[in-house]
Amino acid sequence: MKWSFKLLKVAGIEVRVHLSTVIILLILSYGFYISKQPFGFAELEEDLKILFSIAAAFLIMVAVMIHELAHSLAAKRYNVKVKGIVLFIFGGVAMMEEIPKEPRKELIISISGPLSSFFIALISLAISPYFLSQLLVTFGYINIMLATFNSLPAFPMDGGRILRSLLATRMSYVRATKIAADLGRTFAIAMAVLGIFYSPWLILIAFFIYIGASEEERIVTFENFLSRVKLKDVMTTQLITVKPDTKVKEVVEMMLKYKHLGYPVIRDGELVGIVTLADVLRANPEDEVERVMSREIISLDPDATAFEAFKVMSERSIGRIPVVRDGNLVGIVTRSDIMKVKEILEALEVFSWRRG
Ligand code: ZN
Repeated sequence: MKWSFKLLKVAGIEVRVHLSTVIILLILSYGFYISKQPFGFAELEEDLKILFSIAAAFLIMVAVMIHELAHSLAAKRYNVKVKGIVLFIFGGVAMMEEIPKEPRKELIISISGPLSSFFIALISLAISPYFLSQLLVTFGYINIMLATFNSLPAFPMDGGRILRSLLATRMSYVRATKIAADLGRTFAIAMAVLGIFYSPWLILIAFFIYIGASEEERIVTFENFLSRVKLKDVMTTQLITVKPDTKVKEVVEMMLKYKHLGYPVIRDGELVGIVTLADVLRANPEDEVERVMSREIISLDPDATAFEAFKVMSERSIGRIPVVRDGNLVGIVTRSDIMKVKEILEALEVFSWRRG
């Protein structure tokens, strides 16, 4: 993430802080400053009020970090790669590779976050009678809220994942996701309606939940359909290629003629680059393709699944992937091909069409 710096490393997991964290620290401090116990320090003397408000804001970010660390450590136990944790304006996020589609593992990874928040709350409330009472009571209450809010059965809250993993023990993963996403969207709408009367913050959160639920469902549906087909079955094999010394103006003519927006560049039978509409826009008509093509080629094997291609295209925001076997270009697959394949497979399923 841009505008972030490394804070520390715990058990091999790097924790980074994004600059926008400053904004949430200010909002939290102000919130504590004006709210009454147990959610703030409005009744205290001015000096103590300021000190506790700032301290509580920082402590909350530490609690968020521990929450994300709990998810990450649980994930690492199942050999899920954790790229790190980032703290930012909306709290924290643990960046990890795909969570295994095994209900028990997903359950443990998802539940460990809210459990850790709840545990922090318990400890903090338990020691509050003896030490920094007001501060620890507030901290405890906020952590209970954090645990509760994250347990809402709505994606992308942890509760959405917990619910799906529980459902997935008795039905297909896709079906479980659909139910959890529907519930998430219902929650979001209810929350937005409440927000109209109580707080615009709720509307904002509802918006994120709605999008998060739909996105989760979309990805799972894509995976369900696209992991059934291999690239060799869906790739385009009638390849239209160009040479490194082809002129950019010829590429433009080809685009208009064939309606493909990208072409593999081949030298002596070997794939050396890809030239796309974006590359052409930066060049002069008389330039040779070699000067403007992208040399960093991400290719896949014909035996890779269409879902792998979809993932690579989404992660790298690229529109097409050459399919290469033993160094030879054997096909090409584009984002719109993948979308069409998904549409066809979905339609076949809806109409319960069975192959003989
Ligand atoms: Zn969480």
